[in-house]
Amino acid sequence: MINESSLSRELNEPQLAAVTTIDGPVLVIAGAGSGKTRTLVYRVAHLINSGVAPESILLLTFTRKAAQEMLWRAGRLINDSCSRVTGGTFHSVANMLLRRYGSALGFAPSFTIIDRADAEGIVNLLKSSLQLTANRKQFPSKRVIVNMLSGSVNKARPLSDLIYEDYAHLSEYAEEIVRLQQHYQSFKVDHGLMDYDDLLVNWRRLLAEVPAVREEIAERYRYLMVDEYQDTNPIQADIVRLAAYRHDNVMVVGDDSQSIYSFRGADFYNIMRFPEIFPGTRIVKLEQNYRSTQPILTLTNDIIRNAVEKYTKTLYTRIEGTRRPQLYAARDEKAEADFVVGRINELRREGVALHDMAVLFRSGFHSFKLELELGSHGIAFEKRGGLKLTESAHMKDVLAVLRLLVNPFDTLSWNRLLLTIDKLGPKTAQKITAILAASSEPVAALAAYPGGKGWQEGVNRLVQLFTRLLEHEPVPAALCDIVLDWYQPVFERLYADDYPKRQKDLEQLRTIIASYDDLQRFIDDTALDPPEADLQAYHEDSEALVLSTIHSAKGLEWQVVFIIGLADGRFPHASAFPGEQWEEERRLLYVAATRARQRLYLSYPRELMGADRRFNRVSMSPFLAELSPASYERIEPLPPGGDWLAVRPMPSTAAAAVKPVRKKKLALEDFSLGCRVNHPFFGTGTVRKLNAPRSLDVAFDRHGLKTLHLDYATLNLV
Ligand code: ATP
Ligand code: MG
Repeated sequence: MINESSLSRELNEPQLAAVTTIDGPVLVIAGAGSGKTRTLVYRVAHLINSGVAPESILLLTFTRKAAQEMLWRAGRLINDSCSRVTGGTFHSVANMLLRRYGSALGFAPSFTIIDRADAEGIVNLLKSSLQLTANRKQFPSKRVIVNMLSGSVNKARPLSDLIYEDYAHLSEYAEEIVRLQQHYQSFKVDHGLMDYDDLLVNWRRLLAEVPAVREEIAERYRYLMVDEYQDTNPIQADIVRLAAYRHDNVMVVGDDSQSIYSFRGADFYNIMRFPEIFPGTRIVKLEQNYRSTQPILTLTNDIIRNAVEKYTKTLYTRIEGTRRPQLYAARDEKAEADFVVGRINELRREGVALHDMAVLFRSGFHSFKLELELGSHGIAFEKRGGLKLTESAHMKDVLAVLRLLVNPFDTLSWNRLLLTIDKLGPKTAQKITAILAASSEPVAALAAYPGGKGWQEGVNRLVQLFTRLLEHEPVPAALCDIVLDWYQPVFERLYADDYPKRQKDLEQLRTIIASYDDLQRFIDDTALDPPEADLQAYHEDSEALVLSTIHSAKGLEWQVVFIIGLADGRFPHASAFPGEQWEEERRLLYVAATRARQRLYLSYPRELMGADRRFNRVSMSPFLAELSPASYERIEPLPPGGDWLAVRPMPSTAAAAVKPVRKKKLALEDFSLGCRVNHPFFGTGTVRKLNAPRSLDVAFDRHGLKTLHLDYATLNLV
């Protein structure tokens, strides 16, 4: 159990100040690994300890798993009353509130959440039924259109402005796309569908337009907390503003240098605007990093130092560490994979557990070569951020049936199911769907539909399926079995070439659904937080290496981190040019490198297959080339059987020109207690303690006491 004295042992001063501020707005803005998330965890525990009812706390995080883990940790500090705290993503909380209060806006509580693929499906459907006058051939694809629609919502910009400004080459279609958008909106309303953006938009509407609901929500959640605030979009920021309007008890934490979701409309200026929206905000800055060793921190500080836009903050650590991050230029991707596997095996021999290591990359497909290599060495891994289980067509077929049980007017699902019937074409499917949509009893309407040659049998089977399901007790696992029974022959026909491979997905679905006793909850979860397609993800306690996209590694940490694919054209992506996108990629690298606690390995292949399917030589990512060569160690493999050889860093002329190399390295003997020194970040200070062999404590005039290591800190005598 925590109490006041243990709090001050486990938190530093500014963290403690944030945790113990119970009333009023608080903004914690600080770099990676400085304990922002930890501060939130302790604050939940402290609030409850101080008598705040757990039910009145709302904790918003970037993934549902993050919220669960934070509440679990808070529970360990006090007691299990933390499980009564509401925690989740903006989307999952929106879903919960809209099911409860959505009727005030005219929504039935049984609405269905649609994912991106569904949204694209609707756009396609509408595109073909709309009388588009514009040149159809050149008309933007459904993917581009959904990007535009979503961009307009998330960036809070009118669609036509967005098209004229960001998609100038498509501006001749602007009018038609705006028309399409109106149809898309009414289609969703008519069929009880909400896309991800609608969840946020409608939550905001609830707060802004229905005073009684706003009062109730503000009264219920008197303490709001938000992690990773730098990745919120304008709608989310507005939700926070409206939800806290009565009490102002809101604490947000974030790091502008880690903002990596601007492609989804996230706007890190939200952090900067927070104090304007909440006058009297207490701003807390955290400067001590508790995650990484000094050599790793030196490198990560160096990555972000080159950022065009940043709100300067200084980070220091007391975790010394002697190993600099290592950089390996591999001959090709295979050699890069060999390097990672070799290192992992070595580390395991040294006693590092597999689950304490992670390999991070920019895009899901960058790890394919490595996955093969890991497989052939029998190294278990768990891949995160790849394809979601429910994104594949066969899974969507099964889910369509389950979705219809909850919302029989979900036309999209009817259309999808009709298309699984042999010999039934899209035109007929649309015709039948329209009739079902207009009927108050779609299943009966389907049974009554006059049959056609060849496909009557399929329609009969579908009617029988629903009759069986509706008669059965609503136990999700049992319903799922009935659906799978119906689906098996359909599935074998539709995916004749590779159905055995897909079969395991269906089995996985069966395992997942078994843990639910409410079908609506299961369907919401598969839409809001879809499980990963990789089977291994379900053995969470197993000993497995983590492979993850950087986006999915946000907020996490591992003992050992590998970042692969750091080649120019891959990271940053070839389409990025210096500018906003370029800066976002730099922050992405910063997020990746700051996940490491003890060891960091950076690698890239010197040869990559290009779009022309020919191998091209590629150079190191410009983000690495900018770093001071002293901040990492280049390594090269010795011939087979040998160990890895560290080579002296060769300062490139460009880097050397930007960052003068210090002529003489000072030794501890050059300093004495009380002497004055100068540091490029911390300014001037007085030496307070000499720690053999090469570190010293300095009390800086403006930044307080820091422990610095002479190998990494640039200290000069003044
Ligand atoms: P990120 O920006 O990557 O999300 P963060 O600022 O949220 O990082 P945390 O994950 O909360 O940082 O903390 C990083 C690590 O430092 C964790 O292992 C945490 O337990 C540890 N830590 C933070 N503050 C302290 C402290 N005062 N004492 C001991 N350990 C701490
Ligand atoms: Mg965090």
